[in-house]
Amino acid sequence: MRALKGRVALVTGSTSGIGLGIAKSLAAAGADIALNGLGDLDAIEATRAAIAAEHDVRCMFAAADMSRPVEIRRMVEEARGELGHVDILVNNAGIQHTAPVHEFPDERWDAVIAIDLSSAFHAIKAALPGMLERDWGRIINVASAHGLVASVHKSAYVAAKHGLVGLTKVVALETATTGVTCNAICPGWVLTPLVEKQIDDRAAREGISVEQARRELLQEKQPSGAFVTVEQLGGLAVFLCSPAADQIRGQAVAMDGGWTAQ
Ligand code: NAD
Repeated sequence: MRALKGRVALVTGSTSGIGLGIAKSLAAAGADIALNGLGDLDAIEATRAAIAAEHDVRCMFAAADMSRPVEIRRMVEEARGELGHVDILVNNAGIQHTAPVHEFPDERWDAVIAIDLSSAFHAIKAALPGMLERDWGRIINVASAHGLVASVHKSAYVAAKHGLVGLTKVVALETATTGVTCNAICPGWVLTPLVEKQIDDRAAREGISVEQARRELLQEKQPSGAFVTVEQLGGLAVFLCSPAADQIRGQAVAMDGGWTAQ
């Protein structure tokens, strides 16, 4: 039950949504946790304290803006300093912006590429040497169904997530003979603040109810007609940290209700 006791997991963008779900699942499996992300500091402190108390693990918050390499390096150092080492790195922080490519704001392109792709490179670069020293590590990059297939108006996001899947494969090859594995998780629609915004935008644009917009969003892409949950993604992350997953390397594991089977 506490298979990850003694391991330390740093989960970027874990103040909300999928990252928070994965952090809780890893904590439930016994891992000590370093949270990261944006948000109200009192709310973050309440989340940190609740995870520590509920799962009887050490849990810290390492602030860092994931668009800033210097802060990313400092975050990894802080986690190492306070929790001893970083065994599991979940690169999850991400943002979205939608617009046709010829209208896509330059500044939004740069921000999406920085936060959804480059941050993973900087965090891996900082955390991997410690994993190699201990000859055990798990790097889990939260990509997306959009790491495997495209949709209109998401040029930066699709480029970043395809890039993240490519980065995953390179890191997996470079660590192939070691105890470190690197894989990507590719979720379909998950009902988090990032997607709720897209649903609200769609409802406003089409003059339909939020409920109707939610149904249409699923119908369009996700054959199961059901959202993927953060608990299911957390379960997958825990599995990827288990010995059964020792030889899963460089994969983009889709959990998408059938989206990319089409
Ligand atoms: P979310 O908005 O709920 O969470 C995003 C997290 O990233 C938050 O903790 C936020 O504070 C953090 N973050 C954003 N910008 C940051 C920055 N500059 N520095 C530090 N932290 C920052 O969204 P989510 O849906 O949970 O998304 C998490 C990841 O999952 C993203 O990479 C997203 O692309 C991916 N994803 C989401 C879905 C979905 O349907 N929700 C599907 C596929 C992939």
